[in-house]
Amino acid sequence: MRRSLAAAIAAVLGMTATGCAPDDGDRAGVDVVAGFYPLAWVAERVGGDRVNVTDLTPAGAEPHDLELTTRQVDDVLDAEVVVVLGDGFQPAVEDGAARRDGPTVEVLDELPDDALAEGDPHVWLDPVLTQDVVRAIEDALVNADPVHESAFRRNADDLRGELRALDENYRAGLATCQRDLVVTAHDAFGYLTDRYGLRVEGVAGLSPDAEPDARRLAELADLARDEGVTTVFTEELLSPEIAETLAREAGGLRTEVLNPLESRSDRGDYLAVMADNLAKIRAALGCS
Ligand SMILES: [Zn+2]
Repeated sequence: MRRSLAAAIAAVLGMTATGCAPDDGDRAGVDVVAGFYPLAWVAERVGGDRVNVTDLTPAGAEPHDLELTTRQVDDVLDAEVVVVLGDGFQPAVEDGAARRDGPTVEVLDELPDDALAEGDPHVWLDPVLTQDVVRAIEDALVNADPVHESAFRRNADDLRGELRALDENYRAGLATCQRDLVVTAHDAFGYLTDRYGLRVEGVAGLSPDAEPDARRLAELADLARDEGVTTVFTEELLSPEIAETLAREAGGLRTEVLNPLESRSDRGDYLAVMADNLAKIRAALGCS
């Protein structure tokens, strides 16, 4: 629907839909379907105006265990390239992808085995591993549309450069801190804290709907007091209640929002949100 509308508008304006060469006819680019925001963002950045990316996870929605509409299942089946995280992060998406004839990128399969933490899907919060995600999506787009290989390669190189700069900012920004324990709501930040030599404790588990019990809260409150923790992080998509309870039990800590980039944010793209998260972690840990 969106593409045919764009094509209709382009026809009225007397131009091709994307400014492609005339031999592209009415094709606006490679149809890519991605399971959730970080994968969709990489596909958009690498594909530029040569791709139409559909993000299955709506803004403000929870991607863990996403349910698909019939229409979205059709989108998955019909796409030229599908990008999923894999390993059961979004079973409905992965089941749909398994029924396809076309290519599917399973991101976790494309990352070095020794970089993966058992059961933790949140690799996109590590700017170094995200460079490998770029490589996997770049290769899939080149296979789907070899004519535009040089554009995909150039876009991917640029994006890796931006991710390297982000990694440098994290390294420098977290090198000298008074504390190294990050307390978060759901346990999304393990890859990130590992990468930069920090420790993390999540109030809930690896999946955000895991409910913490009273004993876990008491344990964390003690730990927070012992460690001089100043801030309990919560997330936009989660009820702040758990973090607020812990903050109160641990003796009047601040709560602050970290964004685990699990769906599109109106506060900016991946790079902007990651920079914002860094500023908040630096403040919480007393980094200089
Ligand atoms: Zn998560």
